[in-house]
Amino acid sequence: MWDASKCDLCGDCLVKCLYVDYDKDRAVAEIKALMEGRAAEILDQCVTCCACREYCPTGADPYDLILKAQERFAAFPISKEAAAAFDLTSAIPSELIPGDPEKPVLSLCVMERQLPEGALDSQLFRGMTIVKGGDYFCYIGYVHVGKESPIAKNAQKFIDKMGSLGKEVVFLHDDCYAMTHTKVKDYGIVVPFKYMHIFEYLRNYLRNHISDIIKLNKKVAYQRPCASRYTPEKDALLDEIFELIGVERVRRKYDGETALCCSGPLINVDRERAVQIQARNIDDAITCGADALITLCPMCDRVLRRPTSERGLNKVFITDLCRMALGEKPFPA
Ligand code: SF4
Ligand code: SF4
Ligand code: SF4
Repeated sequence: MWDASKCDLCGDCLVKCLYVDYDKDRAVAEIKALMEGRAAEILDQCVTCCACREYCPTGADPYDLILKAQERFAAFPISKEAAAAFDLTSAIPSELIPGDPEKPVLSLCVMERQLPEGALDSQLFRGMTIVKGGDYFCYIGYVHVGKESPIAKNAQKFIDKMGSLGKEVVFLHDDCYAMTHTKVKDYGIVVPFKYMHIFEYLRNYLRNHISDIIKLNKKVAYQRPCASRYTPEKDALLDEIFELIGVERVRRKYDGETALCCSGPLINVDRERAVQIQARNIDDAITCGADALITLCPMCDRVLRRPTSERGLNKVFITDLCRMALGEKPFPA
């Protein structure tokens, strides 16, 4: 949550923003305007990637300031139709598929249709209870509509729903983990259940099945989703997964703190800009010698499906990459 008392007006948040070209003076002027309740150009230019939250060295959370101002001024240039369509997310039909009571629940959020075909048909998830659909939607995706109030309004409902499962929850969607692990603290909500990120689950599974792993010996580029700006510390888990399965994470311009958004939120707002960002991102991965782009967010995976294929770069969802190392499917040629 935005904390003005932590802001020393250093300007780093918007100087580092990869979607505008502000010097320090301009960045500070933008932040000052927002702090004083005025509109600022960044509200229109922001692609809702959440990165400035991570760039801020003092933890002032400038993205929360920007997001709330975007909502107040209706500044994120999304069409009324697209915003209304997003409002239907929570109405996506829900289902609980019971599994082994000894195993944790796998939450798909509302992402089942975005997953690559057959992604769940794996030893990785055998016997797990699966929950999916609007009842399990975490609402943090509203950042991509330029709105904060639906997140605040529904945070407790989401936590109560997950808690009602009475079991440990594995979050497949990075958004849900960001919401549970970090965002709900903004609203004073205490999480009453145990949970883990899919990275931790995969890392544990691979550790426990080490003799089944066939090292892939591939180089990969990673597509870091925006929700990871709320939980950057779990990057170390990904590195451990890559090491376990014999994959080298190429050092590239757009990874870690300087990751680029997949541009999903921009596609229906400014298609030309979205396509340019995707091209920069994919070309960077290719230049660095990656055999594939690895995705974590199912939405990024879907959004980048066509642009990666058009540029001849393989794209592999993280759970599928682990399945390849377990001999369940081949690495793409
Ligand atoms: S959310 Fe991303 S695009 Fe928006 S101001 Fe912050 S860094 Fe820039
Ligand atoms: S929000 Fe953080 S990064 Fe931005 S000006 Fe304030 S202290 Fe600096
Ligand atoms: S669509 Fe994916 S990369 Fe793009 S902003 Fe959302 S999570 Fe981040």
